Amino acid sequence: MNILNLGYRSTNYYALDIKNGKLLIDCGWPGMFPEFLAVFKRKGVAPEEIRYILVTHFHMDHAGAVQELKERGAKLILMESQIGFPQAMADFLRPKNLGFTEISEGGNLLLKFSESREFLAGLGLSGEIIPTPGHSDDHVTLILDEGLAFTGDLPPRFLVTEKDHVTKESWDRIYRHKIIKIFPAHGNGQFNPEEA
Ligand SMILES: [Zn+2]
Repeated sequence: MNILNLGYRSTNYYALDIKNGKLLIDCGWPGMFPEFLAVFKRKGVAPEEIRYILVTHFHMDHAGAVQELKERGAKLILMESQIGFPQAMADFLRPKNLGFTEISEGGNLLLKFSESREFLAGLGLSGEIIPTPGHSDDHVTLILDEGLAFTGDLPPRFLVTEKDHVTKESWDRIYRHKIIKIFPAHGNGQFNPEEA
């Protein structure tokens, strides 16, 4: 799997090769699209190559540039547990005047977790998208069968307290799959499960 990190400002945005383009996991800061485009240019990727965007959760450092990329042809994959969250994010950001372009409902692909494996297969990826609440209720994780997990802002496993059942169960759900590498949304990129 060819994985490109299009990250900036301490946030990782992973672009995976799919049929006829790329799938982007998480998508830029609000009001900073020129900075994002500069990263694309530096990494030799045209924004039009992004066919789909999966947002691990709708916080501003993960979904800040979704609409700008939709306007360049990408489709947002909205998981069933994420319905209403783009609107909540827009409500939160509106008074802050950060130059956020609100995410329209048009051009989104609504997907059930149970359909994710079949959908990904259509893109040439073998894996699934699973719900991983904890950091936020709408948080999801992409798992590829080759053992890669894109875990967004889920706190590292060793930091999760016994009392935090929701996050613990999310990690348990992830580790029901064979995982050899974890790709978090912040920090130095990938690490091995033993360190999680
Ligand atoms: Zn974050």
